[in-house]
Amino acid sequence: MGGRTGRPRGKRVPRLTGTAPRGAPDATELQKGLVLLSAAQPLDVQPTPLALLLLGREADPRSERGVECPGDLPAPSDPDLVARARAAKEKLGDRVFVLGHHYQRDEVIEFADVTGDSFKLARDAAARPEAEYIVFCGVHFMAESADILTSAQQRVVLPDLAAGCSMADMATAEQVAECWDVLTEAGIAGTTVPVSYMNSSADIKAFTGRHGGTICTSSNAKRALEWAFGQGEKVLFLPDQHLGRNTAVRDMGMTLDDCVVYNPHKPNGGLTPQQLRDARMILWRGHCSVHGRFSLDSVREVRERIPGVNVLVHPECKHEVVGAADQVGSTEYIIKALEAAPAGSKWAIGTELNLVRRLANRFAAEDKEIVFLDRTVCFCSTMNRIDLPHLVWALESLADGTVVNRIEVDAETEKFAKLALERMLALP
Ligand code: SF4
Repeated sequence: MGGRTGRPRGKRVPRLTGTAPRGAPDATELQKGLVLLSAAQPLDVQPTPLALLLLGREADPRSERGVECPGDLPAPSDPDLVARARAAKEKLGDRVFVLGHHYQRDEVIEFADVTGDSFKLARDAAARPEAEYIVFCGVHFMAESADILTSAQQRVVLPDLAAGCSMADMATAEQVAECWDVLTEAGIAGTTVPVSYMNSSADIKAFTGRHGGTICTSSNAKRALEWAFGQGEKVLFLPDQHLGRNTAVRDMGMTLDDCVVYNPHKPNGGLTPQQLRDARMILWRGHCSVHGRFSLDSVREVRERIPGVNVLVHPECKHEVVGAADQVGSTEYIIKALEAAPAGSKWAIGTELNLVRRLANRFAAEDKEIVFLDRTVCFCSTMNRIDLPHLVWALESLADGTVVNRIEVDAETEKFAKLALERMLALP
């Protein structure tokens, strides 16, 4: 499948043979590590390729993980960071358009021209053709989607290439191609329609487009599944098992028995051909490392602590958490629900912490009490990679005429990924 570049222009990043920064494990050490890891695994379980690579330490070009920042970053302690970001943005004027995902830090959101979820932001970028540079404050797959939906003249920049997404990394092009072979051998590929969550790499979106499938967001997953079941008998849902299961069971009346989980680390996904033939939903074994951590205990604890609290969670949460919540919805749904909430109401929100904190501050003046659903769940670590020093560095580089950290999807991948995105846009 087609590759993509998210590397500084002209710098080709090698695969396992790459030169690691000082202190990072070299390729041989990594391979040894994989051998040791393999030895510790049950025999039928394969480790994720390059599972030991560290975020921000050299490259795994097949995943959402990135490389180190290739330039001199301003120090986080620099008292002039805010003034520098303002000055660089002013110098660039309409030539730059800064997008800020809802899960970004406050210090970054302050400089965003628009905020939103990944799909809204990609569309916002496409609606600004005069902007030569799109600085995407979010994660890698989002910048790829913006590159796919914007014109060839516009250049998309991700301030820190190490801002990947662990969920998107859980489905690689090779693993998904292998899964399709398994479905073909089971005699069901012809009746299976892939539906991929927006939170997937351009390669997976292209796979989806090539095989007659569509992309979905957490807002339109039900409509996407209804469409897909009009095209075929089964759905291969990638890469978030929780969104797939919650939509199928909670919104479409299927049962848990209609769903099977395809584990890419096991031979044949850990499923028999008969299990695959009997299933309606084949769920990829992926999850969000933030939303997947909310638990039934989180819900019980907050209900005890705050009597009368409304529990509102994102559909990337586990099925039992969604079942125990009062309301379920996308980030846009969560924001609208809190806007419409009456004064004096109390809310426990199960989504990323940066957004929940911002909402809590915003609505405190309206006497709405908003708390984070769990006391121990952390920020999305990769979203938080984009900080003010990286944003300043990206903006100042652009203002000086140097395009850094460009995210560019190759033409073949873009063609099919766009096809899948267009099918989503055409959903009834
Ligand atoms: S919050 Fe979850 S899905 Fe979103 S970028 Fe972070 S790991 Fe990926």
